Amino acid sequence: MIIQFKKPLNQEILKDILNTMKQEHHHGILVDNHLVVFDIDSFDFNERQKSVIDRIEQHQPRYVLSSRAFKSDDTIIKTAHNEIGGNNFTVMAGPCSVENEEMIHRLAAEVKAAGATVLRGGAFKPRTSPYDFQGLGVNGLKYLREAADENGLDVITEVMSVAEIESVGQYTDIFQIGARNMQNYELLKAVGRTHKPVALKRGLSATIDELLNAAEYIASEGNFNIMLVERGIRSFDGTYTRNVLDVGAVPVLHKLTHFPVIIDPSHAAGHADLVAPLAYAGVAAGAQGLLIEVHQDPARALSDAAQQLTPAQFTKLVDHVNKIRAIDHEDELEAAEKSVYQQDSDSANNNG
Ligand code: PEP
Ligand code: MN
Repeated sequence: MIIQFKKPLNQEILKDILNTMKQEHHHGILVDNHLVVFDIDSFDFNERQKSVIDRIEQHQPRYVLSSRAFKSDDTIIKTAHNEIGGNNFTVMAGPCSVENEEMIHRLAAEVKAAGATVLRGGAFKPRTSPYDFQGLGVNGLKYLREAADENGLDVITEVMSVAEIESVGQYTDIFQIGARNMQNYELLKAVGRTHKPVALKRGLSATIDELLNAAEYIASEGNFNIMLVERGIRSFDGTYTRNVLDVGAVPVLHKLTHFPVIIDPSHAAGHADLVAPLAYAGVAAGAQGLLIEVHQDPARALSDAAQQLTPAQFTKLVDHVNKIRAIDHEDELEAAEKSVYQQDSDSANNNG
């Protein structure tokens, strides 16, 4: 049961309600003006208690803090250069891995010119084989930060373990939790104890409910700066696509959660020529941002060579995405015009 209190909170009656719950051995948490009580879906409040209650939601999902039932308006994450979520659209781009200083500086300028406002790049890489390039570590983080600052961009980079949170946190604006770590609960709790934004990638075989419960681990520690990243799930046919981009997950997540939803078409596609069509589908479905891998010379990339776009391909993709977004925006404008027209005719009728 979610109890939403009227604002400003009446501390005295609130205390009384909390005491009543405690006496009856009900387990709950209080966040802002919401009290979540886990083990009941109704309660016989007295009149005085009722007077401070705005709304009661009887049934709540296990991922309560992440749910729309708990918070109906979109979460907007503020960083130095961005507001992510709501009606904003955020393009994050850069190489799979930071390979050297010069490449990340050049790419930062190029993705910025194309419209990106967040620079991505892995410095600690989760590779399928221990013999593959594992990233430049802290040096990679330094290059990434400097390149982003030089171009007025935010940084997103992966953190793979609890032990790395402090050092990665010194360089990044957004922690990326990779698909392979989506259910690393200690890591989720630890980034939850920071207040830094977290981009949580959907696990390779995770259901939507599992993704939301993973987000809940972060939120339950007090960090609500969470964005969810759909990056494709594994299916039976990996012949032509690396993963299957779950486009339907975008509207479903919008219904279930207030957190922003970002599409990563690069890891879903696995092939450069499929990145743009998947990005367009995700944007048309309502994604609030894109995470795209871009490399100057994809064929020579030290990781994910097949799926990275050249800066020119990326520029074209962003231009098309803006056109798709403009179509959606036209609908909004039309609706706004209609409502103005309606108001005009209402007032004309009233006057008449
Ligand atoms: C990445 O972003 O480079 C990456 C490894 O992503 P994922 O965790 O989605 O595979
Ligand atoms: Mn990659």
